[in-house]
Amino acid sequence: MRTVGILGAGQLGRMLALAGYPLGLRFRFLDPASDSPASLLADHLAFDYSDKFALEQFASGLDVVTYEFENVPVEMTRYLEQFVPVFPPPIALEKAQDRFIEKSFFCELDIPTPKFTTNFKNGKTTEIGFPAVLKTRRMGYDGKGQVVLRSEIDLNNELTNGSTEELILEAFVSFDRELSMIGVRNKAGEMRFYPLVENHHRDGILRLSLVTGNVLPQLQMQAEEYCASVMSALEYVGVLVIEFFEKDGHLLANEMAPRVHNSGHWTIEGAVTSQFENHVRAVSDGPLGSTNPLGMCAMMNLVGDLPDVKSILNIDGVHLHLYDKAPRPKRKIGHVTLVEKDVDTLNRKLDLLKEIVHV
Ligand code: AMP
Repeated sequence: MRTVGILGAGQLGRMLALAGYPLGLRFRFLDPASDSPASLLADHLAFDYSDKFALEQFASGLDVVTYEFENVPVEMTRYLEQFVPVFPPPIALEKAQDRFIEKSFFCELDIPTPKFTTNFKNGKTTEIGFPAVLKTRRMGYDGKGQVVLRSEIDLNNELTNGSTEELILEAFVSFDRELSMIGVRNKAGEMRFYPLVENHHRDGILRLSLVTGNVLPQLQMQAEEYCASVMSALEYVGVLVIEFFEKDGHLLANEMAPRVHNSGHWTIEGAVTSQFENHVRAVSDGPLGSTNPLGMCAMMNLVGDLPDVKSILNIDGVHLHLYDKAPRPKRKIGHVTLVEKDVDTLNRKLDLLKEIVHV
């Protein structure tokens, strides 16, 4: 029996454990919040991530440690490495936690990104042009910590009145759509990739993910190549997700997540092996499972209020996942997945779902 430690006990940790139990794995969580979605599933230490004594206690008897969110302090994962292997490797956190380091890393690997700068002097911002997006370099998620700017005047206002945090300015991309590539690599260097996922956001929060075979094969290949080059460069182990903008048939990398991802929730019922199972397989030194889709898939997030559960369950074939979280504005409290043989049936059921859930 092997025991996996997970930093963070949110819904991603919960779904990782649910995927790992059938494989004979055990789990232990570390998360400062005592009432987290995964707390009921396994041992849960409620301490701060920077508490070294708690980290040692957490690591004792574990075979491997992984994490479910990318803002775990890097130095603490390095500290943990003295006691137990940590996957994905902490270098991946280092690259993903800072948008400037992340985009510079993409550029080193010849992965196209929107134009960006952190140099607000010497006319550098005119190279970016307007509209532009000003983001905090660190800790931004679900659209937090970013603002769209229309002019140099807007920018100067933000710089003089805005936050004291380090910032990055990016060209605003009027993209055709947003796509994410979910890849996985194990210790032996084996890699697998899921089909590109089409993602729809509202107020910066993911609402709907679709996998309906409407992506050109060359785009899929390109995304796989980019994902493979990131994973190889980092000697990565686990699931890695890259979010792209598609514009005129080309991909621009927006950001990466060194963890399982919301846009991969459809894989639980919609793929031969889910992203969660493949992540635990990879970090526990196993072979990877097939990433083939089982049909036309849609995943809708439940954000804020809990809709009428009975009405959702009344839709034939629907899969409901609730995370045991109290409803709160903008909070992800669950998701619903549909897997159908054809796009028409999928769309018909999605329409029924949209009458119950506001996407
Ligand atoms: P992020 O926090 O970088 O994932 O951004 C959240 C969302 O804001 C993205 O999913 C996009 O919808 C939008 N966004 C971020 N950066 C840009 C950009 N450079 N151009 C246009 N839209 C953007």
